[in-house]
Amino acid sequence: MTGLSDSFHRPINYLRISVTDRCNFNCRYCRPPDDTHYLARKEVLSYEEIVTVVQAVAGLGVNKVRLTGGEPLVRRGLGRLVDMLSAIPGIDDLALTTNGRLLSRFALRLKKAGLHRVNVSLDTLRPGRFAEISGRDDLNEVLQGLERAERVGLQPVKINMVVMGGVNDDEVLEFGRLTIDRGWNVRFIELMPFGRADGAQFIPVSQVARVLSALGDMEPCFAKDGGGPAKYFRFPGARGTVGFIGAVSEHFCFGCNRLRLTADGKLRPCLMGEEIVDLRPVLRSGAPLFEVREVILQAAALKPAGHLLTHGIGPQDATMSHIGG
Ligand code: SAM
Ligand code: SF4
Repeated sequence: MTGLSDSFHRPINYLRISVTDRCNFNCRYCRPPDDTHYLARKEVLSYEEIVTVVQAVAGLGVNKVRLTGGEPLVRRGLGRLVDMLSAIPGIDDLALTTNGRLLSRFALRLKKAGLHRVNVSLDTLRPGRFAEISGRDDLNEVLQGLERAERVGLQPVKINMVVMGGVNDDEVLEFGRLTIDRGWNVRFIELMPFGRADGAQFIPVSQVARVLSALGDMEPCFAKDGGGPAKYFRFPGARGTVGFIGAVSEHFCFGCNRLRLTADGKLRPCLMGEEIVDLRPVLRSGAPLFEVREVILQAAALKPAGHLLTHGIGPQDATMSHIGG
């Protein structure tokens, strides 16, 4: 095993895989208004092709894999993919990011297949507001999904809340309180310039932290899984944690450890960057694993030092629902 790193010597041990560009929601900060163009079925990597990619990266030292989308649970037979991925030696952290709508139906199957944990995106606890943000009146189903995931042991369940000024920022305290009262693990995420995201609604995580200080002094704490770009804290006596992902206001690119694979087989070394390496032709040519690894090494070498969001420069061509967040 050689170990995967980029040209800035950052080790890469994490692959995020978008299994579909389709979604049953239409969150305004994620998808453009006219997002009706979906990949044709034959353009999307098969589960077997995804497994080949994961076997290749596992041989290079990647041990964390996250399935995302679009909405990963709308792709049929996801449990079968998880069955195959959990059997790959070296993958010791297998997680899913979902909007939660179909989670109550699939949580047990996924747990049995070997999924370790889930992140559920949840921006509001108010039904009307939920429908406004996501385009679907499905808050109850998402909350049921969350509970079901906890019950079957897909833990820790983390909640991703994108904080938007004038939209849901008045719920920050309520979400913070749930880390104390219910043991929720809530991550507050800065709005990034995708979809129909309105820059005027941007709120830095420092401001969110100031609001939360009304609940007490937060103690820094460490996430067992390393936590990625989030910084974690805990209120006194709370079972749950508070996390902050300041993708725009804080530079965490220097610690970036990930590659992204889109549903149609493009490796993207940076969420915001335009560097792309197309793995699909290599996979479909029946190339041996070492050749797939060569291409992955080339993609890693293209990873830029960082993005320019702090300078107001965002992605040119990218859609969050296509890349997978
Ligand atoms: N559909 C799944 C979900 O919503 O969890 C997975 C895909 S979604 C693209 C992954 C994550 O990206 C979600 O937590 C979502 O809130 C986040 N996201 C999407 N657009 C965003 C934006 N403009 N700024 C910040 N986070 C965003
Ligand atoms: Fe779909 Fe997730 Fe994007 Fe919402 S954030 S539109 S649920 S992919």
